[in-house]
Amino acid sequence: MKNKRLPEWIRQSHITGRHNTKRILRSYRLSTVCEEARCPNKGYCFSKPTATFMILGDICTRNCRFCSVSSGQPLRVDPEEPERVALAAKKMKLRFVVITSVTRDDLPDGGAEQFARTIRKVREYLPKAKVEVLTPDFKGSFDALKKVLDAGPDVFNHNIETIPRLYKKVRPQADYRRSLQVLRMASEYNPIIPTKSGLMVGLGESFDEVVSVMEDLREAGCTILTIGQYLQPGRENLPVVEYVRPEVFERYRDIAFQLGFRYVASGPLVRSSMNAEEMYA
Ligand code: SF4
Repeated sequence: MKNKRLPEWIRQSHITGRHNTKRILRSYRLSTVCEEARCPNKGYCFSKPTATFMILGDICTRNCRFCSVSSGQPLRVDPEEPERVALAAKKMKLRFVVITSVTRDDLPDGGAEQFARTIRKVREYLPKAKVEVLTPDFKGSFDALKKVLDAGPDVFNHNIETIPRLYKKVRPQADYRRSLQVLRMASEYNPIIPTKSGLMVGLGESFDEVVSVMEDLREAGCTILTIGQYLQPGRENLPVVEYVRPEVFERYRDIAFQLGFRYVASGPLVRSSMNAEEMYA
């Protein structure tokens, strides 16, 4: 999708660089949210190398209007997938492994067991690596969340994505209060594991509405925050309402630090798991 009217602060030279990240991912039959969500930073991340592994297949049971991941009837859970993720991460010599997934409302635990098994497999093959999980809301189930947290990720991430007023339009099957509750349960259940969340801007939210979400996230125990510009991944997705100027991202960052976030990445091309290792460090 060519965002023809991209402002200069978004237009960027595509980093290609020689790397075999894609070949490794294909050889282990793995998906990444980098590719499925058409992330603008893919070239940069793959050349590092880093990648965000997407488990539980590439078909989502939800249909968020900002997302280009396919939605429909998902495939059965693949029991070998955790091992393949761990083997690929080892092959890529990753020091920091990010694991995310589509939403699997069709599964009793929303896929929490597969997350836990994948964390453990990565630990087995890469004992020194750090692991961040970016999970769905598991329909607010504490038992599902506990399964993931008991596997001991180094960072627990769940994106709040946008402001409550836009939920119906942007992510109709999700619930703002429920997502906050997931983050609150995670930070209360195991305060040692930093809790992280992310926002997209440029969908019609006001400055004050974004600040109010930051306050809610702090109240829910979040210590790491990412804020990035929404970009329309495909014609069927929501159009960009506004290209937020870099100086506005700087104001968001300053306010976020004043509110007590320990780490904040705020910028037009910031994405939830981009430079996740640096954020953790
Ligand atoms: S839950 Fe929404 S954002 Fe996540 S993969 Fe599914 S459609 Fe995309």
